[in-house]
Parts: sequence; C-alpha cells; structure tokens
Amino acid sequence: MSEFFIIGPCALESMDQVKPLVSLCKRWNLEYFRAHIFKPRTNPFSFQGIGLEGLPIVDYIKSEGLKIVCEACSISQLEVIAEFSDVIQIGARNMQNFELLKAVGKNKNVIDNDPYIILKRGFANTYYEWISSAKYLEESGIDPKKIILCERGSRNSSSLNGVVLDFAIAFQALQKSGYKVIIDPSHGTKISEMVIPMAKAVVALEFDGVMIEVHPTPEKSLSDRDQAISILQLEEYLELL
Ligand code: PEP
Ligand code: MN
Repeated sequence: MSEFFIIGPCALESMDQVKPLVSLCKRWNLEYFRAHIFKPRTNPFSFQGIGLEGLPIVDYIKSEGLKIVCEACSISQLEVIAEFSDVIQIGARNMQNFELLKAVGKNKNVIDNDPYIILKRGFANTYYEWISSAKYLEESGIDPKKIILCERGSRNSSSLNGVVLDFAIAFQALQKSGYKVIIDPSHGTKISEMVIPMAKAVVALEFDGVMIEVHPTPEKSLSDRDQAISILQLEEYLELL
C-alpha cells in the first residue's frame, strides 16, 4: 500500500457518520482520515461544513489514533486547524492564494507540529504554476519533504462529468518535482463508479498515495454525494491491494 492512503468523508457531518469510518480505518490499519470542517462550496446555499461544532468529532478521531487531514481555505481557518492537523490541505481553489501560502510556514502550530501540507492542483493550473505555488510553501518555511502535491482533475468540456483526472501532469510531477505526489480520484472523476478503477491506476503508476471520499451512506452525503463510495466498495479495493 502507498505511503499516503487517505480516506474519509467529503466533510465531517456527525459522530454517527464518522464512527463506522473510524472502525474501517482500524480494521485495515489506515492512518490518515479526511476530517474537513470547513468546505469551499460553489453555491452559498450548499452545506458549508460543520465548522467549530466539529471539533469534538476531530478529537474523537484523534483519540482513536488516526491522523487528521483538514483543509484551510483562509488564514483564519489555518489558525484553527493547524492546532490539530497532521496534514493540512490547501485546496484547488486556493492553490494560488499566495497570501495563504505565505502564511502556512509562519504559523506557530505548523512550526511546532511540522505537519504535511497537501497542495492540490487548481483545475485550470499548469505544471509550472503548481510547482511555483509549492515553492511559495517552501519560501514560507515548509520542508520540501513535507509537501505533497495532489492531482484532482482539470476542467474539461469533452468529458462526461466536466472534469478529467490528469495522470500525465501528475506523473511529470512525480518524476521531476522532487515532491511527493498523490491522486484524488473522487474530485478527479466526480462519479463513484470511476473512483476505484482510477485508484487502481494510482497503484500501477507508483504514486505516493491516494485520497478517496467514502461515506457510510453515500446517498445521504451532505456534499459530493455522487462521488462518494461506500465502505463496502472501499473494502473490496483494499482486499485487492
Ligand atoms: C476537498 O478535497 O475536499 C476539496 C474541496 O477538493 P478540491 O479542492 O480538489 O476541490
Ligand atoms: Mn468533496
């Protein structure tokens, strides 16, 4: 199994949602849990994340021995999540939020806790722009060994779902950038049936990891319902590995 096998819901919703996923991680010795409390959403009327109310759930996940992966969409959110995150995600929409990138390595908790930083490629960004943003993180003080590039697909008008997961750009990053590189087949396909087939390709191409959205009841997911896979679907994949 790859070094970074990150699973969890699109967004933290409730203790009932999280408990079966934590059990899944423990059954399979999976280390990293997506515990996103703030969500960058296209529509202001969509679920915006559980926010600070989710902190007891984060504590529970941590108390079960799992590592927390959490996104910061702003400097103020970074202040909150750097306290408990083992992996801080800078999402696709913020790949070129340069003030946020400059703030990451200056944060006191980041300096003390030395978390990994995931930098997702923006859905219209080039290789050069992606790597340049990673350099902003380095300039802010982040050790390059702690930077994880994540490919999550580009806008694409010819594909069925309006997105194409760009294995080629990610593979170039793997060969040339010197950073760790992982793949997000969930946002990269937006459709649950395609997530595991793409995850198999991640293994074949020897990337450093994968990030997969999973939900105990995918059809009830408050965000990204169509791309969420079930616990059973993830376990079938884990069995193959
Ligand atoms: C996410 O991983 O929760 C997310 C919002 O992804 P992206 O930034 O790739 O859209
Ligand atoms: Mn999502």
